[in-house]
Amino acid sequence: MNGYLTIPKSIYCKLCKTCGARPVIKASEAGLYVVKCPTDDRHYQTRSGLIDIDDWNRHNSVFYVPCRDFNPQVSC
Ligand SMILES: [Zn+2]
Repeated sequence: MNGYLTIPKSIYCKLCKTCGARPVIKASEAGLYVVKCPTDDRHYQTRSGLIDIDDWNRHNSVFYVPCRDFNPQVSC
């Protein structure tokens, strides 16, 4: 039993920095939500509360893409 919700395509969200999966929203009891990677609980997930895609995006920027192919001014 799980309460995963997919995030509508119209909402911009980054892919998991570890595996590149599109995140899902997990609804837990008490009306709390977690934005998480569908692949593995050890990948980044937001703290439970409101649906916080901004927080997910902040924690999943650029790392999945190999840095060496990009302008070195981006620190990673
Ligand atoms: Zn992942």
